[in-house]
Amino acid sequence: MSSVKTIAVIGAGTMGSGIALTAAQSGIGAIQVDVSQAQLDKAKAGHTKGLARLVEKGKIQQSDADAALKRICYVTDMAEAKSADWAVEAASENPQLKAKLFAMMREVFPGGAVLATNTSSISITQIAAAVGDDAHRVIGMHFFNPVPVMKLVEVIRGLATSDETVQRTIDLAKAMGKTPVPANDRAGFVSNRVLMPMINEAFEAWMHGVAQPEHIDEIMKLGCNHPMGPLRLADFIGLDVCHDIMMVLYRELGNPKYFPNPKLRELVTAGRLGDKTGRGVYDYSSPRAG
Ligand code: NAD
Repeated sequence: MSSVKTIAVIGAGTMGSGIALTAAQSGIGAIQVDVSQAQLDKAKAGHTKGLARLVEKGKIQQSDADAALKRICYVTDMAEAKSADWAVEAASENPQLKAKLFAMMREVFPGGAVLATNTSSISITQIAAAVGDDAHRVIGMHFFNPVPVMKLVEVIRGLATSDETVQRTIDLAKAMGKTPVPANDRAGFVSNRVLMPMINEAFEAWMHGVAQPEHIDEIMKLGCNHPMGPLRLADFIGLDVCHDIMMVLYRELGNPKYFPNPKLRELVTAGRLGDKTGRGVYDYSSPRAG
């Protein structure tokens, strides 16, 4: 049983907004923090729309949707989230940014609050170095996209993470309806160590003319029984996120095979980041997409 009453979710993008919504639907208060008011507005609109869709489908009552929405508040200043007894960081996949945020989180959420990160690939021990002797409170709590639907939470302990922090993370994940599974603190953990090189290889296959993107995706869907092909999945995850994870794998594992494919890099440079910008490998203004 988790005793967590309110979680602060730092970052209101694809993942942070999903974590806040899932918490709220599980009866836990959520304070959504982002430096960008536009991102907070987008998250709020997404929460409202997502809950309305569940009501329409008869999966939840209108009163449940109203109650969940009331449990979420939106702030641009982390200090306004200080009443939370748990903090999970879901800001962009950048080691310097995460170090800066964890140094702030240590001050804003003193004492008993766990300081979790949703990082896809950055070392938990490295992130924990930003909080000095509070490193026992830091843990990887890696949700999957879309958070309200995906059951898995990878739980990653850093060198100094305490047993109590691990147990409380497992309890919270279960209270949010998730299945926590442990992984060790190695670049990409399990999920992205295996998934991202496959996605990068799909870009490689596209670049070398092995097949067109839609055919690469169709072959992997039908041939490997994946729910979506690797290029479609890359758009869904965010091409910038895929690129940043490959860079972490490349730097940490020191093998050129992990270097982000030039086509992936080109799309990121052009700002075509996938679903979140309306264009990535596919153009989402066109009915062919997906
Ligand atoms: P995103 O780009 O959708 O959102 C990142 C958010 O962080 C943005 O809203 C941005 O405004 C905000 N942000 C940036 N600096 C900030 C700051 N100083 N304070 C508060 N907010 C700040 O990214 P995302 O896809 O939600 O990824 C977030 C994290 O989750 C990353 O570490 C990523 O690797 C990880 N992750 C992503 C996925 C995925 O499928 N996209 C899956 C699992 C884990």
